[in-house]
Amino acid sequence: MKIICIGRNYSDHAKELNNLVPDKPLVFMKPDTAILRKGRPFYYPEFSENIHYEAEVVLKICKNGRHIEEQFAHKYYNQITLGLDMTARDIQSELKKKGHPWEMAKAFDFSAVIGEFIPMDGFDPEGIDFHLTKNGEAVQNGNTKDLIFPFAHLLSYVSKYFKLHIGDLIFTGTPAGVGPITIGDKYEGFIGEQRLLKCEIR
Ligand code: MG
Repeated sequence: MKIICIGRNYSDHAKELNNLVPDKPLVFMKPDTAILRKGRPFYYPEFSENIHYEAEVVLKICKNGRHIEEQFAHKYYNQITLGLDMTARDIQSELKKKGHPWEMAKAFDFSAVIGEFIPMDGFDPEGIDFHLTKNGEAVQNGNTKDLIFPFAHLLSYVSKYFKLHIGDLIFTGTPAGVGPITIGDKYEGFIGEQRLLKCEIR
């Protein structure tokens, strides 16, 4: 399986990092070795001094497809959760300056923290409320109505380049409020009022 991630998909987040709002989706990937699941702790890696959390709604693909039309995109995912796109911001800044690829900053082991998946049934793809708490205090609040590129557009766009397989994950982008993690922090991720993700930093 593969993990497809979308960058700068909420304009408030693009602005907080002084990035322009893109005119088409910014896509990168993480390998399956990046997954950290089931509430396991995240161990601060030695190669970075500035790891940031980025809370994102994650879709799970349930049907193989390429060249998916937007109007049928909803048939290709049936579960969602909250995830953290862990990012080595110091490394990413260096890579950005040089125009280099982002993998070293984004795709390292355990950089894709995922919560428990729940059925998509009953959720409006363009109205999913989510938030992340750090040590009990909300640090990120988002709603998928604010996505620059909604789920249907993302699936359609991405599947022109990459065949989507059952089990693939799509990290759909983070809203404003990203920030550095510290050893000892406890994060909890919610969709609506449902807590789906727990992650402690060690
Ligand atoms: Mg992200």
